[in-house]
Amino acid sequence: MRQAENNTGSAPIYVTQPYLPPLEEFIPYLEKIWANKVLTNGGPYHQLLEEALCEYLGVEHIALFANGTLALVTALQALRVTGEVITTPYSFVATAHSLLWQNCKPVFIDIESTTLNLDPARIEAAITQETTAIIPVHCYGNPCDTDAIQKIADNYNLRVIYDAAHTFGVQDAGGSVLRHGDLSVLSFHATKVFNTFEGGAIICPDAKTRQRINHLKNFGFVDETTVVAAGINGKMSEINAAFGLLQLQHMPQIMQRRAEIDMFYREKLQAIKGIHCLPQAGQTVANHSYFPILVEPDYPLSRDALYQKLKDHNIFARRYFYPLITDFPMYRGIPSAQRDLLPVATAAAQKVLCLPIYPNLISQDQDRIIELIMEV
Ligand SMILES: *Cc1c(COP(=O)(O)O)cnc(C)c1O
Repeated sequence: MRQAENNTGSAPIYVTQPYLPPLEEFIPYLEKIWANKVLTNGGPYHQLLEEALCEYLGVEHIALFANGTLALVTALQALRVTGEVITTPYSFVATAHSLLWQNCKPVFIDIESTTLNLDPARIEAAITQETTAIIPVHCYGNPCDTDAIQKIADNYNLRVIYDAAHTFGVQDAGGSVLRHGDLSVLSFHATKVFNTFEGGAIICPDAKTRQRINHLKNFGFVDETTVVAAGINGKMSEINAAFGLLQLQHMPQIMQRRAEIDMFYREKLQAIKGIHCLPQAGQTVANHSYFPILVEPDYPLSRDALYQKLKDHNIFARRYFYPLITDFPMYRGIPSAQRDLLPVATAAAQKVLCLPIYPNLISQDQDRIIELIMEV
């Protein structure tokens, strides 16, 4: 009914669609779990996935989690972050929520207009006696200015925890972007480039930190009878880990198809007046996790009108990130959340639209999306 109204004959296209390997490939994994009867608590697939991810990502220490949000909360707890934490308003709400869960006070600063990442030039002015950490986000997988951020963190003795939920597989000139900061946190949610249905991870610099994190994700147990902290249950199950192992085998094709879709959008959209593709900067290997465009005032439609037009044609682009975190009720009363202090983020949230990008997006559908943006 709705499709007829919309004058399209095709199925809805969402901003992303999880990649699912052929079901028969997953059956042997399930058979092993059924045979082993180990369902969670660091079982064999959990261990194999940790090893495989370290190798794939080019990192040394990883701790898997049930989701990215629990990983963020645990990362803060592991480093004993307290007081004020400097972060970005331009992210998914879980970035700031993790601070509230740890009883920390978010201090929001504006972003750079080029990358839409936390602007390092604004960090120092936001530091007080209470500041203990910075949580930047590598937005859309484009790396932050990690050198500038680390320099400030070193000068003021602050921890840096990267929300790297968008950054699976991204590399800069020195290797994995996940090596920066004290910890980096990944999400393996169904909507992300690499997914385990739900899942997440913390990348740690050393075995000792990983050990502490592993205790914290298991209620704070260090042995059968000793609990050392108010840890959460953040453990990843064997089913999720097994799926991750299978998914990992398909990453080369997934990444290649994402890169093709990204390139095609850039090529076609660059000619359109008022449509600005966010440049990729600072990475040697990108993951094409999102395809954000900025709808500028010289485009004939407003961002919301374009969003609605696509929706009327059954194409569900998403306004990531709108509203800003600082516009949600639990944050907007904070002094640093005031819109006039965040002009770049406020403008970006009004202009951004993330277009569909996922490995199974077929060319005809991408053509249709591009045509709809062009024909105004
Ligand atoms: C997805 C996401 C999260 C949360 O991860 P979950 O696995 O869904 O809990 C946190 N931060 C950012 C930037 C995200 O995109």
